[in-house]
Amino acid sequence: MPALRRAAARGLERPSLVREEGRAVTARDAFNTALRDLLDDGRTPPCANEPRFTSDDPAERAAVLHWCQRCPLVAACAALAEEEDHRHGVWAGIDRSPRTRKPGRPKTTKTKEITAA
Ligand code: SF4
Repeated sequence: MPALRRAAARGLERPSLVREEGRAVTARDAFNTALRDLLDDGRTPPCANEPRFTSDDPAERAAVLHWCQRCPLVAACAALAEEEDHRHGVWAGIDRSPRTRKPGRPKTTKTKEITAA
């Protein structure tokens, strides 16, 4: 369900307005401001120019999840992903891509634990 519809269902106009210096801004605005400040500082977020963040391979995405822990944009990134309901790639240390099974691989089933009698 898109973020705006989810917010409407909760009785909210906007899904995640962020307060900044006393005024409400969207998560997109807050993220863009934080990113601009970071770039002005001569720094980049860890995901910059790193294709594994949006890779189709779940193992590649999993390999970079922890990089977000050292990112100064992590809070703004999480709010943005939630507000815009992103469903692909790594955002703020969370893999938001749908889980897929490898082709030809059987669906796993839970097995009962065998205990020695
Ligand atoms: S927190 Fe967001 S901006 Fe920072 S590295 Fe992770 S995905 Fe990139």
